[in-house]
Amino acid sequence: MKDKYEQLKEEALKAVQNAYSPYSNIKIGAAVMAGSGKIYTGANIENASFGATICAERTAIVKAMSEKEQYISAIAITGDINDYAFPCGICRQVMSEFMKKDALIFVSGNDLKWKQYQLKELLPNSFDFYASKKGS
Ligand code: ZN
Repeated sequence: MKDKYEQLKEEALKAVQNAYSPYSNIKIGAAVMAGSGKIYTGANIENASFGATICAERTAIVKAMSEKEQYISAIAITGDINDYAFPCGICRQVMSEFMKKDALIFVSGNDLKWKQYQLKELLPNSFDFYASKKGS
């Protein structure tokens, strides 16, 4: 039986090609599985005003939540880099807003096997005001 997260990983890999990264030349792709079961993808979208840059993870999460999804159950992140595409601190905080503490985060990079974590491992003791609003 095909792992239910295999498609999520495949979609993240495809999303890498949608990156807009003329400044860093780093392409990252992400895919989230939303509460409905639907998958949303995102890529890093950079800006000449660097602070306006949006990471692939947040692109995908915001796409899902702006389509009235209730929560995110898992996320896969990868990129055209020779290291694991771990989420930055801001993205981990955004994940904590919409994902349960035991939600799965998959990371990989060029020719790297996927690693699997739970959100609570990557963001322990999170600032989590709206925890009760998350689905199961
Ligand atoms: Zn980020």
